[in-house]
Amino acid sequence: MRAVVSFDVEMDAPPYLNSWRGIDEGLPKILEVLRDYRVRATFFTIGMLASVRPKAVYSIVEEGHELACHGYDHRRLDKMPLREAANNVRACLKALREFSEVESFRAPNLKLPPPLLHVLREEGVRVDSSVAWYKPPFRLRPSVEAGVLRVPASYPSSALRLPWRLLKALFPRGREYVILAHPWEYVELVAHPRPDLTLGVGKSVEENSRRLIAHLKALGYELVPIRDYMTSG
Ligand SMILES: [Zn+2]
Repeated sequence: MRAVVSFDVEMDAPPYLNSWRGIDEGLPKILEVLRDYRVRATFFTIGMLASVRPKAVYSIVEEGHELACHGYDHRRLDKMPLREAANNVRACLKALREFSEVESFRAPNLKLPPPLLHVLREEGVRVDSSVAWYKPPFRLRPSVEAGVLRVPASYPSSALRLPWRLLKALFPRGREYVILAHPWEYVELVAHPRPDLTLGVGKSVEENSRRLIAHLKALGYELVPIRDYMTSG
């Protein structure tokens, strides 16, 4: 069985905050966890990070993880004209491809206008993870659409803030998982206009990440970057 560990690398809790504590403080913690367990993960990264925090982008690539696209600036692609959305995706790919190959994509808020799949395909993107078990249209299994493999995320990132025994129960053997988290969830964010967004973030998310990776490995899962989903297992 396979599972994917993935992170959406963006400003803190967009669009509510515009700080970068997740990148500055959370990302190094994530890289340390992955190093400790020898896991290669996928980092869906906003293109503007290449200008704002180039060293952070480099740190992801340097450790052998998959760099993937999460839009240029985390604006919702379904709330702009299609041509603008296509240019937003192209700008992200161009910025990130200065650092590494980029073959995978996840739309901000998992909102991908379907015609953009053709643009992704034209631009050399093979895997899209803008679908999820828990959001309409509730995709449970990978499928190919417009020549792009769509691999659904399993749970919202807030699952990692559950008490460990509840979190563990969400990951029985027998299904393949795409775990989704954000660097800002590894930081104690305070003074937030939406307290529910940041409830339980910080050290417990880091500890649960370690437990979950250890749990999946103990069950015999192979943890792969999402671009390897088509060719592995
Ligand atoms: Zn995001």
